[in-house]
Amino acid sequence: MTKDFFEFMEETTGVRLNDVQRQAVLHTDGPLLLLASPGSGKTTTLNMKIGYLLLEKKVRADRIMAITFSKASAGDMSERFDRFFSGLTNEKVHFSTIHSFAFQVVREYLRKKSQDFQLIEGQVPQDEWKKGWDGPEVPLHKKFILKKIYEDTNGTQMTDDEMDELMTYISFVKNRMASGKELDKITCTVKNAVSIYQAYERFKKNHSAQLLLDFDDMLTYCYQYLLDDAVILSKYQKKFEYLLTDESQDNSVVQHEIVKLLSQPQNNLCVVADDDQSIFMWRGSDVTKLLQFEKEYPGATVMTMSQNYRSSQEIVQASNQFIKRNQNRYPKEMFTSNSSDQPVAIKTMHHYEDQLKYVTEEIKKSGVSEEVAVLYRNNASAVPLADKLDKAGVHFYMKDIDPKFFKHWIVEDMLNFMRFSYNDRRIDILERIHMKFNAYISKRQIAYLKKMSIETSIFDTLLESELPSYQKKAIPKAQKLFQSINQMPPDQAIRTIREKLGYDHAIKKMCEKFGFNAEHLFGIIDTLEKIAEGLGTLKDFANRLKELEHLVQTSKFNKNKSNLTLTTFHSAKGLEYDKVYMIDLINGVVPSQNDMERYRNKEYGPMEEAVRLFYVGMTRARTNLELLTYHYKGSERVTESIFVTNVKKIVQPAGEPSTSKKSKYAASDLSDESLLQVDDIDLGLEVMHSAFGPGVIKEYGGDQIGIQFEEGGYKELLLDVCLSNGLLKKL
Ligand code: ATP
Ligand code: MG
Repeated sequence: MTKDFFEFMEETTGVRLNDVQRQAVLHTDGPLLLLASPGSGKTTTLNMKIGYLLLEKKVRADRIMAITFSKASAGDMSERFDRFFSGLTNEKVHFSTIHSFAFQVVREYLRKKSQDFQLIEGQVPQDEWKKGWDGPEVPLHKKFILKKIYEDTNGTQMTDDEMDELMTYISFVKNRMASGKELDKITCTVKNAVSIYQAYERFKKNHSAQLLLDFDDMLTYCYQYLLDDAVILSKYQKKFEYLLTDESQDNSVVQHEIVKLLSQPQNNLCVVADDDQSIFMWRGSDVTKLLQFEKEYPGATVMTMSQNYRSSQEIVQASNQFIKRNQNRYPKEMFTSNSSDQPVAIKTMHHYEDQLKYVTEEIKKSGVSEEVAVLYRNNASAVPLADKLDKAGVHFYMKDIDPKFFKHWIVEDMLNFMRFSYNDRRIDILERIHMKFNAYISKRQIAYLKKMSIETSIFDTLLESELPSYQKKAIPKAQKLFQSINQMPPDQAIRTIREKLGYDHAIKKMCEKFGFNAEHLFGIIDTLEKIAEGLGTLKDFANRLKELEHLVQTSKFNKNKSNLTLTTFHSAKGLEYDKVYMIDLINGVVPSQNDMERYRNKEYGPMEEAVRLFYVGMTRARTNLELLTYHYKGSERVTESIFVTNVKKIVQPAGEPSTSKKSKYAASDLSDESLLQVDDIDLGLEVMHSAFGPGVIKEYGGDQIGIQFEEGGYKELLLDVCLSNGLLKKL
């Protein structure tokens, strides 16, 4: 009977499960942890197991709970299941996120207690957010409540970055079920984060007769209610005879606890995971729970798989070696019997622009006849790429969109500058930008202008008033510039706004004053300039922005219409493509500035998570993997990601012909253990250079390392040359 199932599945799906996969499918009763490498068939096995339960064990679909991490992965799983089993069963298996299950429990419990509740999370429309609130009552939305508490606590305005960080912090705290003293140990740079969090919790509980709930509360409350209400708990324990969770390395503490409660008493639980792909630690996921699986579930079976069925020899070897730079992991070796294909390609471009051009041209040339993905660390990479591809007539599917870009205040500023250049009588527009160009128009002057009836240019009205001497020249100059802008093509207009009207300078000052992230803001301005390229008028630019926004928002519906996917590393988890381009691989992006700073302060967790994220990216590719980096973004010199340097070392080991020029130094014995390796590099580390003698590492990043030598002074050296020739030793 059993043999038939596997043979039957081989015939219908073409997939012949290996021994471990078969054992995992057959192990239906009792706890099972399947801990395995990328592409080893974890999701395939999980799906086969569900099919086996339905077809062979005749379990009803509503008795099976398959839990995924996000809505998107629930969709992906469901699609993959249908690919195998549609036509074979009419049973509809429900792939659910843990949040939606938790919400069900919370609703049920609160209804029983006749307790009203209100959800306070979700997108706030940008206009509402900007308007803020008038009266004493803050709108019942998480962001507004946090903003109010922040302002009451700290007495200053909250920046967008602080809001993001505070939200992440709160999410982390709840997912980890942290309380009391533990709270102080969790890093958050937002001032008074702990007391803001506590005030927020009090606010939600005591606001009115209605209990206020955010998304993370769904989980913590669900857990409490299940513990509190034996009837509800027992109902769900009986209902779900079989529980399966994919990508379990990303489950948070509270999620693990909910699953544990639900699976009792039979513990028919199948947990599928890969600790090397844990990429949501920052949001409270906890791999240690997996590593203690046998303790948590006595009598549990643990199976491991290390054969990768997805990728070529080259990709498997390079990624297997790369992940070893992490210390904190279950040691394992991934291998494949798949054939050799293209070498992992590392392309270093001169400029960021060259990278965009390269990717676009390559994709266009290929005709996208196979499945291709462009993966990036941050959503900020997506808009310029979408613009370029669209201009080249290439269609794409975007898995996760970032509507924030088009609503960003920098974009609004730029459009306001342009609007004002068309009509410099508009005091309402000037009011929004007067602090951001060098005519030094004060708030008092805005108030004065508002009282006047303005028939001509605002600048003329100002010139007729009493002016301080520095404005007597600045105002006519600004007036002239605004007049010229409206005749310019938009890219030139943006450059004029930035450089001649002093917008860049104003933004820099704001960053210094309010702690905004300058890199991010200038990235947005650069992107706008790129979007403007080749367009004729300012109106064309405004229209292009609208068109792009629409394109980005609708591209999520192109899933089955295009072979090309643009997505973040995070959202590519679990998926596979023939060809993968990983772009924007520079230090400061991946690893992020924050990862690097924390690493320097000897906090290694975030850097290891960045390594895993990079590894997730690499292991998405079946046959082609290209890593792209560059030397310049805008006019700024940037450095190649240390991870690229690392992969380069793996795919072009010392001794083999490499793209870099042959060193003039004699190579040392590269097996010598005291030789400096990429992972050893740390600020302050004492080293010995074969030619310059002893020194201390003062700086490092990408392809360069800065060393203060005892005798030879400070030198910046090429890291690759030093490492691959064994020129540096640890002291
Ligand atoms: P990830 O860690 O990235 O989520 P995974 O372990 O879930 O990967 P799958 O996505 O299930 O891996 O499988 C990867 C690829 O290998 C798929 O294309 C799948 O069809 C194929 N595959 C899995 N098992 C086998 C097998 N026994 N024989 C041939 N192909 C297989
Ligand atoms: Mg998978």
